Formats: sequence, C-alpha cells, structure tokens
Amino acid sequence: MKENLNIVKENLMNVPQFIQSNKHIMDGVYDKQGLCNECGEHKAVVNYNDGNYCNWYCAKKEINKMTFTEIDVNTYSGNVPTGADLVVAESGDVEETALVLYGFDEIGMFDDEFNNPVYGFLGDK
Ligand SMILES: [Zn+2]
Repeated sequence: MKENLNIVKENLMNVPQFIQSNKHIMDGVYDKQGLCNECGEHKAVVNYNDGNYCNWYCAKKEINKMTFTEIDVNTYSGNVPTGADLVVAESGDVEETALVLYGFDEIGMFDDEFNNPVYGFLGDK
C-alpha cells in the first residue's frame, strides 16, 4: 500500500508543467532560463508572489492582472481560495499597496501601515 502511494506521487511529479496551464508553461520556461515571468526579456532578480521578475515594475504589472475580492475579516469563515493570496491593502489602492499575509493569524499585524486597511483575496483573473 505504501509503495503504491509513492508511485502515484512520483508519476504526478513527472507530469510536464505545460499540461497544467498556459501561464505556468511560460513561467516555467522563463524560470528555467532565469528570465522575468512578465516581460521574458530581462534577468529575473525579484521574487514576488511565487513569480520571478526583472524589476518591481514587471512584478506590479503581473499583480495588476489580478483580481481583488474584499472580505470582512470579522465575519469571514473559510480558507484562502486556491490560486489566491490573503492580502491587506490600502482601501481604493489595492494593487499598489497589497501586502501578502501568510495566514489569517496575521490579520491586524500590519494595520498601522495603512490609513484604511482592507482585507481580501488577490488571485488570478
Ligand atoms: Zn520584466
């Protein structure tokens, strides 16, 4: 039984990235070459939000393609949706200010850095 489980795991790891999704094809190719996930032209030196970028401009560009869903942390119950990050951000300026949290236990920890903090999920459109 244990051996069978190991085989399944190994097979999954051997599934080429490119059949998983288009975006991940390109990111994977760029990562292999050490290139920016956004422009694909320059050397990736910034690691942000599971991506590698040549500079913050490209990292932010990638974030602007994302969608923000605001939540009320006092009433929300559930998990962070797959493919999204829990973030705190400045109300009305989410894309420019979003700060990724590693879990619901970090809610409130960074409120001092914002005038009017909002919480929500930032994820692929
Ligand atoms: Zn770039």
